[in-house]
Amino acid sequence: MIGPTRIVLALALFVTLALATTQRSVYGSNSTWLDAYREPSSRLIGEALSDTFAWRRLSVLTDTIGNRLSGSPQLERAVQWALDEMNRDGLENVHAEPAMVPKWIRGAESAEIVEPSHHSIVMLGLGGSVATPPEGIEAELMVVRSFEELDTNATRANGAIVLFNVPFTTYNETVRFRSTGASRAARHGARAVLVRSIGPAGLRLPHTGALQYAADAPKIPAAAITAEDADRFQRMADRLHAEAGSANAPGSRIVVRLKMEAHFEPDVESANVVGEIRGRDLPDEVVVVSGHLDSWDVGAGATDDGGGCIVTWEALRLMKKLNLHPRRTVRVVLWTNEENGGRGGLAYRDRHRAELGRHVMMLESDGGVFQPNGFGFTGSDRARRTVAEIATLLRGIGADEIGPAGGGADIGPSVLEAKIPSMSLDVDGSKYFLIHHTPADTVDKINPVDMAKCAAAVAVMAYVVADMPQRLGE
Ligand SMILES: [Zn+2]
Repeated sequence: MIGPTRIVLALALFVTLALATTQRSVYGSNSTWLDAYREPSSRLIGEALSDTFAWRRLSVLTDTIGNRLSGSPQLERAVQWALDEMNRDGLENVHAEPAMVPKWIRGAESAEIVEPSHHSIVMLGLGGSVATPPEGIEAELMVVRSFEELDTNATRANGAIVLFNVPFTTYNETVRFRSTGASRAARHGARAVLVRSIGPAGLRLPHTGALQYAADAPKIPAAAITAEDADRFQRMADRLHAEAGSANAPGSRIVVRLKMEAHFEPDVESANVVGEIRGRDLPDEVVVVSGHLDSWDVGAGATDDGGGCIVTWEALRLMKKLNLHPRRTVRVVLWTNEENGGRGGLAYRDRHRAELGRHVMMLESDGGVFQPNGFGFTGSDRARRTVAEIATLLRGIGADEIGPAGGGADIGPSVLEAKIPSMSLDVDGSKYFLIHHTPADTVDKINPVDMAKCAAAVAVMAYVVADMPQRLGE
């Protein structure tokens, strides 16, 4: 693998440098202020693409520490590891900023069909779920394709285990069945909920993720099952419906047993990890780049969001390595507790409230580190024009698009509080939800060259925004 990767990297580097040097004549940007950044941008891109450092660092995190749910010893090991490594990189002001985080423990869990015949089902409890009684919950299964179907047949839900079988379209459209389905069914007397995994069908993988219980409904256990098993239940339920009363029906009902030990223990202390390159002229003005260090407790948290942590951190390591000292401070933040609480983002807002007005831009990478397309951006029209100009420096690596909106769950509270221009790293999203929150979120799904390009894109954007004479948006 090393041989071909080296060759690809060398080719990528050649193409990048060739494009960077000819960029002005080819694309004809009129901006003279931007000319000063062509050479440092080429160097940042070249340095990122000359090596597989980012991917190797991610593989160390995911292989030796592994997944990192809030409250787990692995997350605290990852915090300490990141502090040590940032110091080793020579970053400045490296420190941990404490935050109290929830500690949810999955425990043993299982699901099985008990009627019409016995089979185990692949499942993952939803984050934040309560447990079943020790002997489990055994009940008739009710399959619905929508909240409306549930509400129309509410009496059947009473005493049942309800399965929400809604095929994945987009994350935003389908995630509500995972986050609110349990309480919707509990209001009708359901004893537990199963949710078709929020992700495209593939290889019988269950996807976990957080649920939110409503205050006015009983808390019932909830778990994700695979698309394949959900489809099987749908077919069985449809046949039962069609053959109701017929002597040929192989079974008159579907019965499922669910066992879960999930529970919360008291909150524990965790921390956001912070490192900086202090600004040479305006150190109090800050550009934040970030990813979240916590993950779910399955897989290795490689794509969600170890990769986002490493590529944003790389921006600072690359600047340091190339002796680039921007006018303003560039700060990397590795957030704690994005997945099941958002406490890291809230703690940052509260701790830095007095300086949020001097935050020039905040960026979060939490959509994977596949081939980068560019950035999503939310801010003024004037600021948008500037970041679009900066993005022309990334044409050589195909990362020059500026999308209509950018942000992130962790930067959200600060961005909202102080109306800070916000960005997300936009990448080829076609593979992200295949492995999102699953046991298959491992580093082998990530291409080292894609990851190097992500690091290069963040480095160039952060460096120019931090160094340019005018503050972004002015
Ligand atoms: Zn994430």
